[in-house]
Amino acid sequence: MTTATTTTKPSTEKTTVNKKKVAKLIRQLLIELGENPDREGLVSTPNRIADMYEEIFGGYRMDAELDVSFSEETDAIVAKDIQFYSMCEHHMLPFYGKIHVAYAPSGKVFGVSKLVRLVEKYSRRLQIQERLTKQIADELVRMGVKGALVIAEGEHLCMKMRGVRNNSSITTIAHRGTMEQKEMREHVLALIYNPKSEMTRV
Ligand SMILES: [Zn+2]
Repeated sequence: MTTATTTTKPSTEKTTVNKKKVAKLIRQLLIELGENPDREGLVSTPNRIADMYEEIFGGYRMDAELDVSFSEETDAIVAKDIQFYSMCEHHMLPFYGKIHVAYAPSGKVFGVSKLVRLVEKYSRRLQIQERLTKQIADELVRMGVKGALVIAEGEHLCMKMRGVRNNSSITTIAHRGTMEQKEMREHVLALIYNPKSEMTRV
C-alpha cells in the first residue's frame, strides 16, 4: 500500500489552480442547480470558491519535507489531536476531525509544526480517510522512522447530511515498522487515549 516512489516530490503534482477556469465551472454549476449566478448574493461566489479551493486543496502542491528539528534518544513520540479538514472524494463534502501521530524515531525528531504540515499535505485534497491515515504513516516511514502509528478520527458530512444520515464518527488506524508489535502499539495507544500533555516522550 506504499506509494511507488521514495523521493519526496512526486512529479505528477499540479503547481497551480486555474482559478479563472474553476470560477467559470462553478458559475455553470450554479445555473445547472437552477440558480441565477448574477443575483447579488451569488455574483462573487464563483471567485470565492476558486480562492477557497486553492486553499483547501492546497495539499496537492505542498511539500511537507519533515525537517529534522533535533536529535534525541527516545522510544516513541506522540503528537495528539492534530486537527484536520479534508474533502471526501466520493461526494466532495468535508470530513474532519483529529489525527494522532506516533513514531519511533531513529535519531531524528520532527517538530509538531512539521507533523501538522504533513497532516495538511495529505488532508487538503480529495481523500478517503483510510488512505489519508496510510499516507501519513508511509511518509513517516520514508523519512526514516523505525515505526509509525497514525490514528484518524473523522466526522463525514456525506454521512451526516445525506444518505443514511449516520451521525457516528469513523476511526482509522495505520501502523508500520516497530509499531506493528503488539506491546509497542498498546503502549502508544495508552499514551494517546490517556489524558496528558500534547506531546509525550516515553
Ligand atoms: Zn463521501
